Amino acid sequence: MAFEYELNPFWKFLFSFCSVAMLSRESARGTMGRTNELTLNQSSLIGHMVIVKCNLCHRQVHYLAADLAELLGPQRRVFSLPFRCEKCRKSDYLLISVRIPDSRDFGKIILRRPAGIKKVLLWKEERLR
Ligand SMILES: [Zn+2]
Repeated sequence: MAFEYELNPFWKFLFSFCSVAMLSRESARGTMGRTNELTLNQSSLIGHMVIVKCNLCHRQVHYLAADLAELLGPQRRVFSLPFRCEKCRKSDYLLISVRIPDSRDFGKIILRRPAGIKKVLLWKEERLR
């Protein structure tokens, strides 16, 4: 299965100077204030993956924060995303978390990434005028 992941320029810069230990979730929390206020823009600058897990059916999906920021808006809060489980269709059991990918993740984690937008033509009935 193809796997594609490209670090953003901010992250490449950071990798060149910092140890992996500095790239923890705690360091992100320290620089960005309270974690639950984290926006998708901030999360994408850090290089986060957003992990959405359904505690009902145990389905788990990994997204890139940068993809979500582009689709849902950069100011949206990471922990209030408008998701529901694609398997059981429930939203009450979702647990959203973020983390920075480490060296063990590359080549293993399957990301859910945008693959295009499908347009749907809608029809309505109308009287001839
Ligand atoms: Zn589910």
